[in-house]
Amino acid sequence: MKTFKGHFTQQESIPEEGIQRAIEVLRSGRLHRYNVIEDEVSEVNLLETEFAKYQGAKFCLACASGGYAMQVALTSFGLDHQEPVLTNAFTLSPVPGAIDNAGGKPVLVETTDQLVIDLSDLEQKIESSGSRVLLLSHMRGHLVDMDQLCQLLEKKGVQLIEDCAHTMGATWNGRMSGSFGLAACFSTQTYKHINSGEGGLVTTDDPELIARAIIRSGSYMLYDRHDAAPEASIFSDIRLDNPNCSGRMDNLRAAILRPQLKILDDNRKRWNERYRLIEKALSNVTGATLPIRPPVEEYVGSSIQFLLNDMTEEQIKSVIRKCLDRGVELKWFGAPEPAGYTSRHNSWRYMESQALPITDLVLSKMLDMRIPLIFSLDDCRLIGEIIGDCISEIRLN
Ligand SMILES: *Cc1c(COP(=O)(O)O)cnc(C)c1O
Repeated sequence: MKTFKGHFTQQESIPEEGIQRAIEVLRSGRLHRYNVIEDEVSEVNLLETEFAKYQGAKFCLACASGGYAMQVALTSFGLDHQEPVLTNAFTLSPVPGAIDNAGGKPVLVETTDQLVIDLSDLEQKIESSGSRVLLLSHMRGHLVDMDQLCQLLEKKGVQLIEDCAHTMGATWNGRMSGSFGLAACFSTQTYKHINSGEGGLVTTDDPELIARAIIRSGSYMLYDRHDAAPEASIFSDIRLDNPNCSGRMDNLRAAILRPQLKILDDNRKRWNERYRLIEKALSNVTGATLPIRPPVEEYVGSSIQFLLNDMTEEQIKSVIRKCLDRGVELKWFGAPEPAGYTSRHNSWRYMESQALPITDLVLSKMLDMRIPLIFSLDDCRLIGEIIGDCISEIRLN
C-alpha cells in the first residue's frame, strides 16, 4: 500500500535575497522601523509602499500580526464599545478574537456548502443586529460572489473590512481580493502566502482610517516616516485623539517579506497546479463533493476542502484515521472538541452563543487539507489517490 512521506507543516525556505537582506539588517542593528540614518528608508516603510502598489491601494500599514491588523482596522473604523460586528461563522479563532479585542460583539453569519458567507442570512442579520460593519473572512480562500455582496452592503449601508489571510494574491473578476471594502487585512504568519513567522498588513484608500491605524500601531509622532500614508495635515487631530497600542512590524520581518512579494504571483500558479491535481483526483471519487470554483474567481489553492455528505461521523473519523495511517493529514472542523487550529463557534465561549445549524451541518461533513509548496506534483497525485482510496474503502465497508 502506498504511503505519503511528506510533512504538512513544512514551508519552503526564505528566498536567498531575503536572507541576505536580513543579514544586512542584523549587521546594522537597526531593527526598529523608525531607527534610520540619514535618508535611509526602512525595510518596513519599503514593504508598505510595495504592498500598497501590489494591492492597488493608496495606503498600507505593516504590523505585528494578522489578528492585530483586523483589530486596528476595526478600532480605526471607529467601532463603539460593545457594537455588533458581522462575521462569517466558519472562520479561524483570531477573527472573532480581533472583534472582541476591538471591543465589539461578534454576530456570526451562516456559511453555505460552497464554504462562503450565506447572503440571505447576512441580510437578515444586518436587519436584526443593526451592525454597521462586516469583517468578512475569505475563509480557506473561497470568495463569495463579491458583486452581489457589495450590492447588498451598499443597499444596507454596511461597511466591509476584508480578512484576506487566505486570499492574498487572489482576484474576483480581475479585481484584487482586499480592494472591495473600506479596508483589508492580511497575515504574514508562517502558514499564509508570504512568511515572516508573524506579521500583518492593513490596506485602505481611506486617509483617516489609515492615519488612526498608524497612530494606534505605535508610531509616536514619527508618522511622517510612513510613505504609504496620507499627508501630515490628516494627522493633526488624529495623533492626539488615538491611543498608542503598540503593534509595529520590525525591519527583519519586512526584509524577508519583500522578496516573497515579488514571487507571490508565481507561487499562486504553483499552488493552483497542486490544488487542481488533488481536485481532479477527488472529482472522480464517489461520495466526495468539492466546492465549485466560479470562473471569475482566481483563487490561491494553498488548501483544499471537500465534503463527505453521505457519511456518518464515525465513517468520517475512519477516513481521517486511514488517511493518517498512509501519511495524509486531514483536518476536521466538525469535531466536538477543538484540535490544532480547528476550533469552531461553539468553542468560543467568551461570546454569546448563537445558533448556526447550516454551518454546523456543513462543518460536520467537511474535511480540510493544507497544500504546502514543498509538495511536488507527484506528491499531490499520490495524496489525491490516497484520499480517494480511503473514502472508497470506508464507503464499501
Ligand atoms: C491566520 C489567520 C488570521 C490571523 O493571522 P495571525 O497573523 O495569525 O494573527 C486571520 N484570519 C484567518 C482566516 C487566518 O487564517
